[in-house]
Amino acid sequence: MSQLLEVSGVSVSFDGFKALNNLSFSIRNRELRAVIGPNGAGKTTFMDVVTGKTKPDEGRVLWGEPPISLLGKSESTIAMAGVGRKFQRPTVFEDQTVEANLMMALRKPRSPFAVLFFKPSAEDRDRVAEMAETIGLAQALTRKSGELSHGQKQWLEIGMLLAQDPQLLLVDEPAAGMTTAEREKTTDLLREAAKTRAVVVVEHDMEFVRRLGCKVTVLHEGSVLAEGSIDHVTKNENVIEVYLGR
Ligand code: ADP
Repeated sequence: MSQLLEVSGVSVSFDGFKALNNLSFSIRNRELRAVIGPNGAGKTTFMDVVTGKTKPDEGRVLWGEPPISLLGKSESTIAMAGVGRKFQRPTVFEDQTVEANLMMALRKPRSPFAVLFFKPSAEDRDRVAEMAETIGLAQALTRKSGELSHGQKQWLEIGMLLAQDPQLLLVDEPAAGMTTAEREKTTDLLREAAKTRAVVVVEHDMEFVRRLGCKVTVLHEGSVLAEGSIDHVTKNENVIEVYLGR
């Protein structure tokens, strides 16, 4: 099956230091993948390259079928091509309701105030209701987002990204700061999301990654150190040495 995203031989240097070193990574449509690695392994730089924030010194980044190169494309062009990115901290509009946040994500207005002026169609409302159900916030539609728990804000932001229907969703440490129950719900949400799109989850929390139950890519010093199931990679001697520090 053809790849949705194919990164090959990508290197990125900062002042002569190679944050990515001949990195190759590919993912198929509707694939869920965890990317792990110690601090400084290159995880953020990898996401920055895919989303167009950082231009690589060398290598290829191909997207879609037939494949087009994402190199040289702006961040907004790449986002419109179907790459969604969730940063670690939730960035919802706190003084707006859950419903308004989801509606804004759907309509992409130029300012948060614009949502007050547009008239959502029945279809928009259905889509927002469906999204609220998916993220477990159907009972909280009229609540101000600022009143939500940290976990609920993260789900809301995932919902806002899903509302835009990206073909690939990159999620940075979704479980950070969550309770065990919230973590479990987040794995379910990401697994559900990956039924209709590709999802890449960058995580530190091994138990979370184990629960995701997907293929794992371990980065180290800007390249792939190991790839496979969580059991496979955690038995890999190189991974044990550099990642688990034993
Ligand atoms: P991770 O997300 O896995 O912790 P990063 O991609 O953030 O790793 O960083 C990889 C390496 O590149 C680190 O050593 C980091 O210090 C360095 N680095 C990242 N961004 C920059 C930058 N803008 N300028 C200089 N060095 C950077």
